[in-house]
Amino acid sequence: MNSAGTVQVAVRHILSDKVSGGVVRPRTRTVTWSDGVYQVQRPAEGRESVELDCPRCSASLLAEVRDASRTRLVRGVSLALAALCAVLFVCSLVYALHEGGRTLPEGASLPVLFPVSIGAAFVTFAAAPTLFLRGRLYNGVTLLDAPRPRRQHQLRPVRGKEGTGTRPTARRA
Ligand SMILES: [Zn+2]
Repeated sequence: MNSAGTVQVAVRHILSDKVSGGVVRPRTRTVTWSDGVYQVQRPAEGRESVELDCPRCSASLLAEVRDASRTRLVRGVSLALAALCAVLFVCSLVYALHEGGRTLPEGASLPVLFPVSIGAAFVTFAAAPTLFLRGRLYNGVTLLDAPRPRRQHQLRPVRGKEGTGTRPTARRA
């Protein structure tokens, strides 16, 4: 019996990545790929390296898989930070609008906190969705290394049920 569980990842081989338009028509990016889904065994504890073969060019990709509790932790922390960033964003925006909208007496300058709040609003605006996506998508599997050109390959989380199906299983590295 194995309580550590498994996780499914898609090994994606990028066939083409084209950007068209941009001047008259809106910019569109077209990426085509072929992928194969692998079932990866999670270690009981810590991390473990696995080798995944690209279904297209049979390149061997080295990936790292984390145990289930660590994966849950990263997910939880990312989501908590995303929520924190969202709160900070609203607070700094409200503060900046409040201070910026005030009529200042002659000779007085805006408080130091004003530019800080503008900066915080920008940073948290960018960070909140990034952290949220990471929290939602993180599955504990990261691509460590692939033969050149590395850019042709990606690992994608596969949503849905874990540990079912009859997919090819990754070899232990
Ligand atoms: Zn490939």
